[in-house]
Amino acid sequence: MFPQKASSDFRLFNTLTNRVEPLDLIEPGKLRMYACGPTVYSYAHIGNFRSFLTSDLIVRTAQAIGLKVNYVTNITDVGHLTDDDVADSQGEDRMARALRSKEGESFGNVWDLARHYANVLIADWDRLNLEEPTLRPRATEHIRQQILAVQSLISAGHAYETTQGVYFRVASFPDYGKLSGNRDAAELTELSRELVVDSAKEDPRDFALWKKDDKHLMQWFSPWGWGFPGWHIECSVMANEYLGEEIDLHAGGEDLIFPHHECEIAQAESLTGKQFARHWVHTRFLQVEGEKMSKSKGNFLTVQGLIESKEDGGKGVDPMALRLTLISGHYRKPYNFTMDTLRANTRHVQRLREIRDLLDNVSETEATDKTVEPLVLDDLSARMLDAMLDDLNTPEAIAAVLEGVKRVMAKRDTLGSDDVETAKDWLGHVESLLGIIGRPIAPDPADDASLAAAVETLLSERAVARASRDWARADQIRDELGAMGVEVMDTAEGVTWRRKIDS
Ligand SMILES: [Zn+2]
Repeated sequence: MFPQKASSDFRLFNTLTNRVEPLDLIEPGKLRMYACGPTVYSYAHIGNFRSFLTSDLIVRTAQAIGLKVNYVTNITDVGHLTDDDVADSQGEDRMARALRSKEGESFGNVWDLARHYANVLIADWDRLNLEEPTLRPRATEHIRQQILAVQSLISAGHAYETTQGVYFRVASFPDYGKLSGNRDAAELTELSRELVVDSAKEDPRDFALWKKDDKHLMQWFSPWGWGFPGWHIECSVMANEYLGEEIDLHAGGEDLIFPHHECEIAQAESLTGKQFARHWVHTRFLQVEGEKMSKSKGNFLTVQGLIESKEDGGKGVDPMALRLTLISGHYRKPYNFTMDTLRANTRHVQRLREIRDLLDNVSETEATDKTVEPLVLDDLSARMLDAMLDDLNTPEAIAAVLEGVKRVMAKRDTLGSDDVETAKDWLGHVESLLGIIGRPIAPDPADDASLAAAVETLLSERAVARASRDWARADQIRDELGAMGVEVMDTAEGVTWRRKIDS
């Protein structure tokens, strides 16, 4: 177990207040968290994943201090336009443009394309050992909720319709700009004026909630005719749908602060009259070998391209080395990704795996015979956790891991059985907090035998409870088994069980 900590010991920089603050939870013990996911029009690049990894580290750190995390991250599969980042939500839908590109030729239609890139995203997510979110909603599966939200905004006077679409009336929300600091209405208006395409817009700052377009490849029928939702509305709607009207933490890449997150706040707070998110966490950008990543420069690195085997056209990079590299810089500083760092991290990850294998193979008798200074690692587990609680100080947390590697390696030939236990605990902490080893530590076979005996006893109790129709007791036993990391399966052949993955 990690040392006991309170949720207020977890301190994160909050873009909204511009300072590092203790986590202030709406409901004690529970973290409600939303992170903007990718638009699935192409393969995710390492910069996207750097931001997803920040969320992953928040989830892992929160879990390490005993918080129950409800983590929702979306998939944008409609409505994100090429010029959404400027102002007027104009340009072409990124999905449609991808379909017309060379890569798009292999897809039957835009739905097929979205499905493909979403599947690869989830596979990359898994290979980089990111915790599965509680829920991964998709924009196209929440069109009805988005239409209802736009209707509510119109009836409350926060939105209006033109011949081209429905817009959010920025003047109706005086807090617009509180996240990004873009509060000067005149300045913002000036910035957006040139980009206005719909002359019926009341204010150049107003952003699209619904685009009318009966030619669009993905379209739905709405009170305003055929069309599709604006990009910003999906996140407000899905966050509120699954996490409630108020959430603890909202995360994303720094490029999303304005306009995307500013618009999310305007929509959500206008709809509910409550503060949308208490903490806003943003990950800074990433460069490759000192340069901005771009397709034209040939330094555009996708996760897929790096970790795919060489036979499959990839670079065959160890996914855990890539993960370690992407988390090795502090999320609030720009990060320069280099092949040299990746190589160094490959060695670190190999070292951790060597230790894991060593610990699995030290025989009991051999280990107990050694009597020397005991191996001490608890201080390093505590140091690693403290670092993560301190605004996700990953460089410091990783330094603590490397110090642990050194200590274990120095004692590798004289490990006593207590040392083996100590080292296994420490390695478990490293994996649960940073996820850089890549698979759960192999369970001790002795634990397996006693677990099996305990499970069989509970299962026969459950059979008795079920036979006497005592469903409450039967459910209670199932929950007890769940807490032990055991999943019960009632099949036609009878009751079987297995260890839950990752337990
Ligand atoms: Zn979003």
